[in-house]
Amino acid sequence: MEHDFGRTLEGYKVLLEKARKELPKKVVHRSRFVIPVPEVEIVGRKKTVIRNFKEIADVLHRPPQHIAKYFTKVLATPATTTGKELIIRGQHPKSRIVQVLKNYVQEYVICPICGSPDTELVTISGILYKRCKACGARTPVRELRAIFQHQCISIDVSLPYARRRISSRTPSTT
Ligand SMILES: [Zn+2]
Repeated sequence: MEHDFGRTLEGYKVLLEKARKELPKKVVHRSRFVIPVPEVEIVGRKKTVIRNFKEIADVLHRPPQHIAKYFTKVLATPATTTGKELIIRGQHPKSRIVQVLKNYVQEYVICPICGSPDTELVTISGILYKRCKACGARTPVRELRAIFQHQCISIDVSLPYARRRISSRTPSTT
């Protein structure tokens, strides 16, 4: 019986692997919380599109607009969503997109206490929190507001004529 068991176990593993391969991809993703690999396409010279953006947002349980704001902030360029896709101005390699997405998940999805991805964003007394449905922990997270403010200010300051103000006044004789 015992050596039979070993053989059966081996057979079982093979069957399990086979069954797993035959499962629809989405089922595997959901149970293990695997973020779909972004389908990144650079369109012309001016934009980068994530084709499966909605699918990613659905897995993360976050509004597509919130993720779009994060991309805008991190890449310092406008990123807008159609609800289905994410359109980012400029050319951005897939590796960069993946990195930004991972950082988003780390900051806005994963619970830092127990590591669960089953969290939600809630605002309490004006502060945005990531609340964990698994362990109940509440962690404050950064708001994504006033994204372009700093850029506008720095552009104004760097204008060449800003330095040309004459400080000394010529005394008038009249
Ligand atoms: Zn937790």
